[in-house]
Amino acid sequence: MQKDQLFTRRRILLAGGAALGAAGTAGVILAATEETARTAAAPVAGPQARQALAPSAFRLQPLTGYGPPRAAPRKVKVREEPILRISGRGRRMVLTFDDGPHPEYTPHILDTLARYGVRAMFFVCGECVVENKELLARMADEGHVVGNHTWTHPLLTELDRGEIRDEMESTSDAIEDAYGERPQWFRAPYGAWNRAAFQLGADMGMEPMAWTVDTTDWDEPGTDTIVDRVEEGAAPGVVVLSHDAGGDRSQTVHAIREWLPYLIDSGYTLSVPRRRV
Ligand SMILES: [Zn+2]
Repeated sequence: MQKDQLFTRRRILLAGGAALGAAGTAGVILAATEETARTAAAPVAGPQARQALAPSAFRLQPLTGYGPPRAAPRKVKVREEPILRISGRGRRMVLTFDDGPHPEYTPHILDTLARYGVRAMFFVCGECVVENKELLARMADEGHVVGNHTWTHPLLTELDRGEIRDEMESTSDAIEDAYGERPQWFRAPYGAWNRAAFQLGADMGMEPMAWTVDTTDWDEPGTDTIVDRVEEGAAPGVVVLSHDAGGDRSQTVHAIREWLPYLIDSGYTLSVPRRRV
């Protein structure tokens, strides 16, 4: 990423974070979670037998249209705001990682999650997926949930409906190709949602998920600050936002090694949400 793009992106992130921070107090919406941290170490049923393609192989593919036609996704209700936290009993939290996968940082995060038998959500960008398909295969094997974070991480509010659709559909196609299933969750870049994004996501069978606590790791504030953010923000139902790509994420990688055992020792169960059927 070019520096000027990065700068712009950070400014947008700041603005989006502030807006969502205000919305974050709006209340609980959503969905029960399923099991658990500690029993999840064994791989859950997942996509079978994926082939690892050499990078040069999938670069020749178009952005859309992997494989044969698929069954139409089951539509979901169109929401007017994203899910900000999870409901349900107990000290449950959900960990989410955005903007990846990244070949340098994501494996370390997956290693730490595996060490503690924790499953998490990864909101991935299509352009990163096609470069790192093996990481999505690993996520599937280890029981993580993969969500759609668009192809190029644009500000959706500046795109027309067709452009938003292209960003979302191509990413769901790439996820299906690498992970084995189409995503059931969607997160707008920068937390910048609009009506078209909610409608298109629902059409594609995806629920919109935001977050409760932003670790601000995108700003590279120092490992200790990231750890403090998570530990001070911990509470039942909280959805934590971290990033495994989009910049130097070594602080994120180091921080999770501290805050994850802290959360577990504090009695939290880290789980992935389950869609109501
Ligand atoms: Zn993002």
